[in-house]
Amino acid sequence: MTRMQTISVLGATGSIGRSTLDVIARHPDRFRVAALTASRHVDDLAELCARHGAAYACVADASLATALKQSLARCGATAKVLCGAEGLVQAAALSEVDCVMAAIVGAAGLEPALAAARAGKKLLLANKEALVMAGPVFMDTVRRHGATLLPIDSEHNAIFQCLPVSLAGEPNTSGIRRILLTGSGGPFRSRPRSELREVSPDQACAHPNWVMGRKISVDSATMMNKGLEVIEAHWLFGVRPEQIQVVVHPQSVIHSMVEYVDGSVLAQLGNPDMRTPIAQALSYPDRIDAGVPLLDLYAMGALTFEQPDFERFPGLRLAYEALRAGGTAPSILNAANEIAVAAFLGGRLPFLKISEVIEETLQSIPCAAIGTLEDVIGADRRARTRAVHIVDRHRSRVA
Ligand code: NAD
Ligand code: MG
Repeated sequence: MTRMQTISVLGATGSIGRSTLDVIARHPDRFRVAALTASRHVDDLAELCARHGAAYACVADASLATALKQSLARCGATAKVLCGAEGLVQAAALSEVDCVMAAIVGAAGLEPALAAARAGKKLLLANKEALVMAGPVFMDTVRRHGATLLPIDSEHNAIFQCLPVSLAGEPNTSGIRRILLTGSGGPFRSRPRSELREVSPDQACAHPNWVMGRKISVDSATMMNKGLEVIEAHWLFGVRPEQIQVVVHPQSVIHSMVEYVDGSVLAQLGNPDMRTPIAQALSYPDRIDAGVPLLDLYAMGALTFEQPDFERFPGLRLAYEALRAGGTAPSILNAANEIAVAAFLGGRLPFLKISEVIEETLQSIPCAAIGTLEDVIGADRRARTRAVHIVDRHRSRVA
């Protein structure tokens, strides 16, 4: 008999949140939904609460608590309402919860993910930005409170599956020579830089293999997503920057590899569908059906590999530099990226300026050691202010 797991899904209305609920709904004998959270979309959230029988619903924008209550009543859902930053933390740390899916996008997801770690939960981490900005604090919190950290990012989940034992929260590189971190190269993999000047948000979000939220889709187009993942791999698996090699693999069938000192290279393959890593982590160490179609190798044909182009995609270089610089440099990188991507999505910054805003922010904010969470939050705040200023300066030049 498998024990029933009670789960909170933070960021339930998003791409990862919905894929998580899809897997959960396939196994009512294994999983029960505790809390579902969203930023502002109260009708979507209420509908999900009704469908999955959630006990709590949390809207991050506290001014929408009454609207959420009304929407839940219309759907016939009985979920209790939580709201604001405090509500997100409550949803993550409820005593009846065994497992938390951290799938809020961006820095907003840091505090609730940390709350889940502090409460010693099984923590399924999709929110890579949390780890990038607060790596040492995050891993220390996981260790000190005995939380179980399982990576959801498809590459890190693949690496986790290729490692000999559970290394969650226990960096241990014994026998590992390198991590080969694969990436599709995004929608602009083979476009010359001159053609990228005019690309629109919709073009940048049209990923060839994955359907994802808009922020991570733009990160894939700039390849900053791969850069963030290099930093994520460093913290999750305790590997040095020079041990992480990015390999462009346009088919997105191999989700990453681990190379050992004896020359063995282990890979994890699968269709590009996030329900696979989600199901792997939800049921770990068991295996459950994820609703993912069979991998048809006959239909697939050749798998190909290329070197990344650090000149066309400077975001990747900046991420390696920030990781090597250490301290708050990755927090500054992440904050500047969030501001620049939001500006691009809002039509206020051209695509090629995204990496320029990040580079200039990194150059103008001194990086310091990270001792506490406050160091991280301070660096994040300073970097955001600076990056907003750089974006505005660019706009006034254009106007
Ligand atoms: P998404 O934009 O589709 O969903 C984001 C979710 O977070 C939504 O539920 C939204 O309501 C909530 N949210 C947004 N801002 C918030 C705020 N300020 N406060 C509280 N909640 C807020 O994003 P996604 O594609 O599902 O990605 C979620 C996370 O998972 C990101 O960190 C991303 O990098 C990571 N990830 C996603 C994929 C993927 O395939 N989508 C793959 C790997 C990693
Ligand atoms: Mg990924």
